[in-house]
Amino acid sequence: MDFPIPAGCLALCRRLASCGYPAHLVGGCVRDLCRGVSPHDYDLTTSATPDEMKRAFSGYRVIETGIAHGTLTVLSDGAPYEVTTYRIDGDYSDGRHPDAVTFTRSLEEDLARRDFTVNAMAYSPDEGLTDPFGGQADLASRLLRAVGEPERRFSEDALRILRALRFSSTLGFAIEPKTAAALRSLAPTVCRVSPERIREELLKLLSGNSSRDVLLAYRDVLFAALPALAPIGENWDEAATAASRLSHDPTLALAALARSLGEEGTAALFRTLKTDRKSEKRASRAVAAYYAGPPTDLASAGSFVVDFGEIAVRDAASLAGAYGDPKAAEVKGILDGFFATGRPTTLGALAVRGDDLTSLGIPEGPGLKETLAALLESAARGEIPNERDALLALAARLQTANQ
Ligand code: ATP
Ligand code: MG
Repeated sequence: MDFPIPAGCLALCRRLASCGYPAHLVGGCVRDLCRGVSPHDYDLTTSATPDEMKRAFSGYRVIETGIAHGTLTVLSDGAPYEVTTYRIDGDYSDGRHPDAVTFTRSLEEDLARRDFTVNAMAYSPDEGLTDPFGGQADLASRLLRAVGEPERRFSEDALRILRALRFSSTLGFAIEPKTAAALRSLAPTVCRVSPERIREELLKLLSGNSSRDVLLAYRDVLFAALPALAPIGENWDEAATAASRLSHDPTLALAALARSLGEEGTAALFRTLKTDRKSEKRASRAVAAYYAGPPTDLASAGSFVVDFGEIAVRDAASLAGAYGDPKAAEVKGILDGFFATGRPTTLGALAVRGDDLTSLGIPEGPGLKETLAALLESAARGEIPNERDALLALAARLQTANQ
């Protein structure tokens, strides 16, 4: 078996080998090469300890990314490679992190600590594939199977439960029955995993081509793992279908899943997952706009866009499409038509500024803001053109009416 390996990666393997240390590609890159998919990165595993690696890589730029765990990042031919010493993980008393890691000179011991058989293969150009747990056979049967005793492996590290669902979705593999039974029974232990890691896995799950199958088959696991999802309850099936149609945009897919929780509930779910403020706002505004819509003509589209902003209304239209709303295509057409008019949708795009209005005698303060907002609304609705004279004339009329 000969895989196309980047020259920079091969050079690192050769350097370690020439210093007397076996080195192999390992993990996701080997899985992907065996599937005929181009890996997004290449990880190496070696018998060399971190100090031995540092000596072997003299002349290379080396970053001590995770030296306590035996990992160095080495730049080769312009690309970074993670190189990790063969490792045995100690006991996991917290269900998430090994109490201690021990370096070993045995590749097989290193592979034994890995999560799934398809992720527990190693490859070197000289020795070919090392596959002690039947990873290739499982790849051929499209099965995700825990390495070793599944209950023990999920009890050691509950993150593996979510990784199983994530890989099932992205690879389109079924989960082997004993592995599936173990992860079902241990699902509540996922609460030991940090919200950030849960979020990361959930978003990857949602980006997968088989997300719908996984969301439907493992709904109870997800509810136990992340109780904030449980209130979606009887809306789950349609939410899962909608989310799966947005797999190209996982943040919006999560908003689709959360939709029935409403604007506030969606924001709360994103906060529980410690999502950045921008994504939280985007998702909750999309849901708010989804429930507020839909515009029926260019004028109401103008008000709608001014109220929610372009991003939220486009996202809401995507949510409507994903949910198969019968009017979704029509609404999208109205919005596209509206944006094609080039009407202003923000104060910055309006042809007058606050200063222009104060010179009309409108005092600064809330009244000025209200007038500007009214001008924007009228221009967005197409009631007046976005031209200075027309806007100033309307401002003057509003001013007189208010006196
Ligand atoms: P991806 O394509 O998403 O990068 P990957 O398989 O490379 O998938 P990583 O998270 O990059 O996944 O991990 C690299 C390798 O480390 C995995 O293939 C697996 O062998 C091992 N691994 C990662 N996380 C765990 C874990 N929690 N428990 C056991 N092994 C793990
Ligand atoms: Mg990886």
